[in-house]
Amino acid sequence: MQHDDNLGFDSLAVHAGKFHDELGGAVSPIYQTSTFKFESADHGAKCFQGTDSGYIYTRIGNPTIGELEDAVARLEGGYGGIATSSGMAAVNVVYLAFLAAGKHLVAHNSLYGPSRAIIESLYPKFGVTSSFIDATDPEQVRNAIRPETSLLFLETPANPTIGITDIKAIAQIAHEINIPLCVDNTFCSPYLQKPLELGADMVMHSMTKFINGHADIVAGMVVAAKKEHYQQLRSVMVNIGCNMDPHQAWLTRRGLKTLGIRIDRAQENAMKVALYLEKHPKIAWVIYPGLPSHPQYELGLRQMKGPGTMISFGLKGGLEEGKVLMNNMKLALLAVSLGGIETLIQHPASMTHSKLSSEAKHAAGISDELVRLSVGIENAEDIIADLDQALNMV
Ligand SMILES: *Cc1c(COP(=O)(O)O)cnc(C)c1O
Repeated sequence: MQHDDNLGFDSLAVHAGKFHDELGGAVSPIYQTSTFKFESADHGAKCFQGTDSGYIYTRIGNPTIGELEDAVARLEGGYGGIATSSGMAAVNVVYLAFLAAGKHLVAHNSLYGPSRAIIESLYPKFGVTSSFIDATDPEQVRNAIRPETSLLFLETPANPTIGITDIKAIAQIAHEINIPLCVDNTFCSPYLQKPLELGADMVMHSMTKFINGHADIVAGMVVAAKKEHYQQLRSVMVNIGCNMDPHQAWLTRRGLKTLGIRIDRAQENAMKVALYLEKHPKIAWVIYPGLPSHPQYELGLRQMKGPGTMISFGLKGGLEEGKVLMNNMKLALLAVSLGGIETLIQHPASMTHSKLSSEAKHAAGISDELVRLSVGIENAEDIIADLDQALNMV
């Protein structure tokens, strides 16, 4: 694919990875096919040998999926992307590529619920051990590393505490000891944060969230900075069979085109909502990277292009009042997921993070009263009016 290195983010979001259909000149072609016809027996053999780059079978590669992989890899500044059937498939591709019997994972204690839960429930069966620490303090990462540590895994801003981790500082630690660092960039998307530029080796996404952004697809992606890691990850994806479907890729590519303008609007709304909540007499606390009261406000300004659209807050009356609020929201939907065009509200302790032990929740700062808001692209006045009427019911 021809790329102009000078193109800005939004131009790349529209054009990167793009190919135009050779037969009909279609601007948005989709190759909804499982297999590809070879020109001859020799051609088929060469495709399998890798001496011809022709397509073979959709689990291994497909032009529609490839376009999306190229586009996201380009936006993240990586060598190559591997699209997966879901964000959890992407997490597992990273785990399977870099963890093995006798190996050890060091990860942030506030991760997407299942990213942590599987390490504690499924992976011990294969002899993998782990340490979950507060990575917002890089020294805790350094102290948790053992001779058998083979992967560092971060999420920043973290789900659902919105705590921010210093990617550059942790990438330095990872490089000193030559252990790959993967960052879950779901909460920012490459529009707001570029972990590879800060020294991470891999970035993963639940593209279900910001990148697709329309609550109609479940999808994932891993982007590797280096060819060697890319090949390791692709081999796991192809052999596990957690590939994306062409239709899923085609819709996700469509969502990606408007990523920048969707985030700009939702972020503007989120700032207004955070300021409204912070002043409300029934609200005890608000965590949002755009507020100077955020514990890592300065780091957020340095590391992220903007504060994003995710807000966590607690009511003075705790969980009981939080439930009244959630049950009375009319415009915002009471639903998990995030990063879409619609405003969503949920309760992590009883929903997305309910599989974690109470000790793990406590250590990660996921209190019972924490309510998580994903601010959408509706009119800010309407989102605030919705919160206002629901808070009046508390
Ligand atoms: C949703 C999410 C995942 C998992 O992605 P799915 O697409 O739901 O499988 C992983 N990490 C983060 C931060 C998420 O928000």
